[in-house]
Amino acid sequence: MKILNYPHPALRVKARPITSIDAEVQKAAAEMLELMYGHEGLGLAAPQVGLDIQLLVMNFAGDHEKPELECVAINPVIVEKKGGLINDREGCLSFPGLYQNVRRHKTVVVKYFNLLGEEKEMTASDLAARVWQHECDHLNGTLFIDVMGSLGLSRSQKDLEKFKADFEKAKKKGELPPGLDAKL
Ligand SMILES: [Zn+2]
Repeated sequence: MKILNYPHPALRVKARPITSIDAEVQKAAAEMLELMYGHEGLGLAAPQVGLDIQLLVMNFAGDHEKPELECVAINPVIVEKKGGLINDREGCLSFPGLYQNVRRHKTVVVKYFNLLGEEKEMTASDLAARVWQHECDHLNGTLFIDVMGSLGLSRSQKDLEKFKADFEKAKKKGELPPGLDAKL
């Protein structure tokens, strides 16, 4: 399993709901958590590793030592957004090195299933709310460059061109990044 970088087409897939929490889903969640910690990320969505399923892993502290802040979410839905919009710095593991301000709601109410199949509802604010919104967007094929606004986007152009060039280079060399076997 590997993190796919923009503009890999797997990042634009609309993920399918998970219908049974089997060994494959458990294994994917464990591997995604390991990758997320290895890259010092706060969250990772299944499409970022080429899986078109509604699965997210998060740790709002980004810290192995704080497992209580770890969350595996299956079929998550943001049921309410409130508290206005906050503009703050944001990055994405599929855009290494790129950080821009993005407006996100201060508070969200989310519903999801955990790995035991239990339905959970929680209210998240500030950084945790930002991670939820960013990761749930991934499940719809929406990336932070789509929501960062025109100023952030124009400031990102150089980086985006570089990501595109790297992707084309890998494609030409026949080193296609994994994940193209995902249902696109
Ligand atoms: Zn991301």
